[in-house]
Amino acid sequence: MAAKIIDGKAIAEAVRSELKERVAALSAKGTTPGLGVILVGDNPASRSYVTAKERACESIGIYSDDNRLPADTSETDLLNKINQMNQDSRIHGILVQLPLPKHIDESTVLLAIDPAKDVDGFHPMNVGKMMIGEETFFPCTPHGVVQMLMRSGIETAGKHVVVVGRSNIVGKPVANMLLQKKEGANATVTLCHTGTTDLGSFSRQADILIAASGWPNTVTTDMVKPGAVVIDVGVNRVEDASKKNGYRLVGDVDFDGVSTVASHITPVPGGVGPMTITMLLYNTVLSAEIEFEKGDR
Ligand code: NAP
Repeated sequence: MAAKIIDGKAIAEAVRSELKERVAALSAKGTTPGLGVILVGDNPASRSYVTAKERACESIGIYSDDNRLPADTSETDLLNKINQMNQDSRIHGILVQLPLPKHIDESTVLLAIDPAKDVDGFHPMNVGKMMIGEETFFPCTPHGVVQMLMRSGIETAGKHVVVVGRSNIVGKPVANMLLQKKEGANATVTLCHTGTTDLGSFSRQADILIAASGWPNTVTTDMVKPGAVVIDVGVNRVEDASKKNGYRLVGDVDFDGVSTVASHITPVPGGVGPMTITMLLYNTVLSAEIEFEKGDR
């Protein structure tokens, strides 16, 4: 039987319409949530991500402050810009699009962002809070995965979740979020990576399998337990002469094969992708609400 498709676009749409209402409620009280966006250089993929994020902000009434800086911007100038945004009361979230040019130290930059405006959830203070189970700004892609599972009615408590990939932006945080003693989590989590011997022997034990390896076909049909839920975070370009641009996007999972054994599966595109930007909007609205509650407005 074919797996049920988890429709990331539809879930993202539902979250965005809830956020639109929260933005309207804040606006009625005189606060417009603001996202400060910084892009250094002209990497085409980064440019299109930033444009998509700004459009998404606009669509739900978040004000975005667009800062496109030249590739030779010094680290000091970038830190000054961040500091300016840290002080700017119209800005509730700061997004520095990664990767940064080689001459700028990424961890210095992430540390400079006020943790109260760290809507990407990459500041070590927020990473630490997530780790110890406190409320914080959760990183957007892992948070999107957790929301997709919850909103699809997929139970995680007591289930065995196997995550493939241990990056700081996807694998480690999603594993961490799902092992917390909380609603929508409380799973037994196994984290696999390139040092894992015999990936299939772990993936076949998964009730919920999350693939975030960055390589097509990392997860094939024989690696999935019948009835498992499969979440494919991967976004990879593969050559496709039938496409105008010469490529198509695929995930890390062999979708056609795995959807014959899984109970649920996310497509690529249209799965986790739409959730990522949505959770950035979520964090920005949350930050504005927290600031409003503090009575700073
Ligand atoms: P990354 O930094 O390259 O990390 C990949 C991880 O997967 C590493 O930990 C690596 O292990 C592990 N890995 C690679 N091949 C493996 C294999 N054959 N078996 C087991 N583990 C393997 O990638 P990332 O930033 O986490 O992104 C992962 C994928 O998600 C990419 O396709 C990326 O484009 C996509 N992504 C999508 C979104 C979205 O919004 N949909 C957001 C972020 C990322 P080692 O640590 O041992 O090297």
